[in-house]
Amino acid sequence: MSATARQAAIQTIASASYQLQNVSFKERHLKDTFGAHVFSEAVQREVLPKPVFRALQQTIRLGEPLDPSVADAVATAMKDWAIAQGATHFTHLFQPMTGLTAEKHDSFLSPTGDGRAICEFSGKELVKGEPDASSFPSGGIRATFEARGYTAWDPTSPAFIFESPNGSTLVIPTAFVSWTGDALDTKTPLLRSMQALSQQALRILKLFGRNDVRKVFATVGPEQEYFLIDKNFFYARPDLINAGRALFGAAPPKGQELEDQYFGAIPERVLAYMADCEAQLFKLGVPVKTRHNEVAPSQYEIAPLFEEANLVTDHQMLTMEVLRRTAPKYGLACLFHEKPFAGINGSGKHNNWSMATDTGENLLKPGDTPHDNAQFLVFCVAVIRAVARYPDLLRVSVAHAGNDHRLGANEAPPAIVSIFLGDQLQDIMDQLDQGYPRSTKAGGLMEVGVGVLPNLPKDAGDRNRTSPFAFTGNKFEFRAVGGSQSIAGPNTVLNTIVAESLDAIASHLEHRVAHGVSLLDGIREILPIIIKESKKVLFNGDGYSAEWHAEAERRGLPNLRNTVDAIPVLARAETAALFSKYKVYTDRELQSRHNIMCESYVKTIVVEARLTAMMARTMILPAALRYQTQVAGAVLATRSAGVENAPQQELLRQLTGMINELQRATADLDFALAAPASHDPLTHARFARDSIVPTMNAVRAAGDQLEVVVADDLWPLPTYREMLFIK
Ligand code: ADP
Ligand code: MG
Repeated sequence: MSATARQAAIQTIASASYQLQNVSFKERHLKDTFGAHVFSEAVQREVLPKPVFRALQQTIRLGEPLDPSVADAVATAMKDWAIAQGATHFTHLFQPMTGLTAEKHDSFLSPTGDGRAICEFSGKELVKGEPDASSFPSGGIRATFEARGYTAWDPTSPAFIFESPNGSTLVIPTAFVSWTGDALDTKTPLLRSMQALSQQALRILKLFGRNDVRKVFATVGPEQEYFLIDKNFFYARPDLINAGRALFGAAPPKGQELEDQYFGAIPERVLAYMADCEAQLFKLGVPVKTRHNEVAPSQYEIAPLFEEANLVTDHQMLTMEVLRRTAPKYGLACLFHEKPFAGINGSGKHNNWSMATDTGENLLKPGDTPHDNAQFLVFCVAVIRAVARYPDLLRVSVAHAGNDHRLGANEAPPAIVSIFLGDQLQDIMDQLDQGYPRSTKAGGLMEVGVGVLPNLPKDAGDRNRTSPFAFTGNKFEFRAVGGSQSIAGPNTVLNTIVAESLDAIASHLEHRVAHGVSLLDGIREILPIIIKESKKVLFNGDGYSAEWHAEAERRGLPNLRNTVDAIPVLARAETAALFSKYKVYTDRELQSRHNIMCESYVKTIVVEARLTAMMARTMILPAALRYQTQVAGAVLATRSAGVENAPQQELLRQLTGMINELQRATADLDFALAAPASHDPLTHARFARDSIVPTMNAVRAAGDQLEVVVADDLWPLPTYREMLFIK
């Protein structure tokens, strides 16, 4: 008897055995593994002539331009180092606006004309590449006939070796720009936003007499959630392969209600996989630190130690790449989609964010002395002001079709952006609202130091998992970022809006100080004003509750429920003015992001809709018709045998109704898919949301109804209860 794809998958899984032991930390000590494949500062010091090393470090640390002769020397040393590690090729790695990474490999080999060859790699090749840009999204920035795009070496993110079974590749992180100088990627705006943040933060620090600080960095620690399911199930589900999420699937009898998964024991195969991924990431210098089971069945998390925002963004992309690539070796498939399984928790990427000086100080860490606390309060209030002024920019930075399934769905933060400060810090802000803080809540009377400034508590209180933006002691955690998203966009927005706040505060303080007001008095004037205008965004309660939705509306906070509602934020004149003021996006670049968001939303929905229709017609309907035939046969046979069969007739009637419903909904979906596309990207996106998505949901509902009725031996698709629980 021929089995369904689903039965075949289960049989294969039951009999499979895997080579689980692939790394030995006994052979190579953990600490020697770390960074082994990175052209790190330590390697540079070793292989570069001293003046070259110094010049490169100046560029890395302070962003000074690099001399071409230095680039040549660096390239040669880099090539020799890479070849010694088994590299045959090099590639510029860039991050086009697909939200993914792109690479094109070139070999080091250069024939000498006499039948032999040498290995070459010049400074020019290191610094600049020229991939054909025409096949990457540009949102209308350039026409295909002017396809030229350049990749430019980003020396602040070190080159590394990416191993593959046959020869390795030297990977050079780069920015990607068009020949007209427009940013075609996510890295360039991120780097620009970091520069803006640094400039404005330095003005504040200067007021505090901190002339030792030369640069301020955004620091980020992204926690990645993901699902692992057996790859045999994955291959039996066209929706998982092509859309990254299950487009059909009835709720399993057992879901996550027993809460037996979070922080539970990690299954052996999964643990082996995690250790393998970590070993690879260690070699690449990615400081992964934490691993654990997440809330949903078969959901896990990996979190690194924080790093500066640009490097960590590259490392985050690498982490996803390694997790994805390594899974099949262990018979697994790794899913980053925000909601691979409806009804079960989805995957986000908590983006922990702070600011740090080049002297190693975290600017969002409450200090020990009143003077430090004043500085902390200025930076902290600047963030609050930024979120209060630009909540919709943060919202749009995490908007895409996948995240629409997650935000506001009672497991992830709501689509309303608010800040959780914790009781103690909230109390201080409340006092600021009244004037200036004099006491902390927990410690009774506050230390009244120089200029009546508070001693702040070290641990600013408990946690609130329902808030999209929470202060967690020495950083803010932006929790709305989606599991599959690049963190570049959200951090670009965060850096820019905080830069704008710091700019406003610095301008006020500089002006007051120039007029003979003391810095602390200046701060005492401005902070209460800012808190008054920003406090509407502060919320310590349950972000999932209906009361909050009503309260947020009263406070006038935007609630952009889905991607299509959020996209127009990018088209506002204020948005363009903000980004161009801080030289993060030009108007053209912003316009292009707007268009790309619309296009990619539509493409995602259309792909899902086509898959839904196809699966309904070619997988679910045939199974349902077979079962219908069987039931009809039984009805006929019992009737001719003269046996009462009313329940079987009723079953046949119900089943036929469900099949009719499936076919009707599929026909509606075909109709919606056939509608002519609007030329206006936003109108087209609205159509996808309002006409295609609901119809697609109706097809799913009909299919899911059939799943719990049709005979199990006929059902072709691996079910939730199998995919999520057979490990
Ligand atoms: P959780 O929220 O899961 O309890 P942790 O407190 O362990 O997580 O930290 C989560 C992430 O925050 C880690 O990646 C950590 O490195 C990062 N983090 C800690 N300090 C900072 C900081 N100053 N800036 C940015 N990220 C930070
Ligand atoms: Mg966290």
